[in-house]
Amino acid sequence: MKAALFHKESGDLIISNKNIPNLSDKDVLVKVHYCSFCGHDLAVIQGMLKRGVGSEVILGHELSGIVDSVGSQVSTCSPGDRVVSLLTNSCGICDRCLNDQSHRCRVGEGIGHTCDGGFAEYVVVSENSVFKIHDDLTLKDACMLVCPIGVIEEAFSRYKGQFNTAVVSGATGGLGIHGIQKASSLFDRVIALTTDASADKFLSQNGATDVVVYDASDTFKFKEIIMALTEDEGVDLFIDPVGSGLFNESVACVSQYGCLMLLGDIQGIPLDIHLGDMLFKDLEIICSTGSNRESVKLAERMILNGDMKPIIFDVVALENILDVCIKMQESSVIGRILIDMTLG
Ligand SMILES: [Zn+2]
Ligand SMILES: [Zn+2]
Repeated sequence: MKAALFHKESGDLIISNKNIPNLSDKDVLVKVHYCSFCGHDLAVIQGMLKRGVGSEVILGHELSGIVDSVGSQVSTCSPGDRVVSLLTNSCGICDRCLNDQSHRCRVGEGIGHTCDGGFAEYVVVSENSVFKIHDDLTLKDACMLVCPIGVIEEAFSRYKGQFNTAVVSGATGGLGIHGIQKASSLFDRVIALTTDASADKFLSQNGATDVVVYDASDTFKFKEIIMALTEDEGVDLFIDPVGSGLFNESVACVSQYGCLMLLGDIQGIPLDIHLGDMLFKDLEIICSTGSNRESVKLAERMILNGDMKPIIFDVVALENILDVCIKMQESSVIGRILIDMTLG
């Protein structure tokens, strides 16, 4: 089968021919139809994210497809089922798996990170990692169900704050654009932060009530504007898929008793943090990089109800995956680019 194989030591991503993986008793073989390219994949390829990465691994964790065959002990899905995979190959029997936290399984392996993922014609996942999708959901829309949309739902399931004003940084990215849609279903006002002036209209169409375009080279990029827009109160929720690059300024925008929802770290740079800034505003921080089954169900309902639209920037063949890397590096992608594994 055709697959994009990442070699950890050299950092190369090479389209290769591999054998279709073997199936053990509790595993499911999925014929991949779509796999969207996540910022996580880029971070691994750039060498920023190394922990737990397989030495020679097929990346891609945002995959949808059709079950091809199942192991002899699999009882919850059958060939022909339309599915997505959760983000972790999980055991199904540890305390976390039994409490719908299989994305943090005690012996779990990250799909498309530690073990092989979806930039391939076939992938083997554990039965416990399979999520059967609704008949009305297309495989194209489904590949973003778990990440980024389920990750956002998981974070929101822990949010206990006010619903007046939210800010979303990295607004055009996969987490950003879907974070705006989620926030707009709950908050009176949603401010989108971006460096891309041309995205203004699109962000508004997706639910942003205000779009703030800032200059990335400025020392203070957006804090003064956010404080002016909120009459110096700050915002109830700051949805932050950007992380360290904007962290201190993001914290500064949050109101007393407000919340920072940390969903990613693009640059991974060490920070000089002033804890007093967080302590005296009773800041809550919600970190989320995974999605449990309940959050995936919520994400599916949001899409089926029309409250969330998966934003597909482009659909390309696997042969174009290096071009996708470049576009992601340039931050010129709004939403996600999908790799169509049935092409070519
Ligand atoms: Zn992802
Ligand atoms: Zn487990």
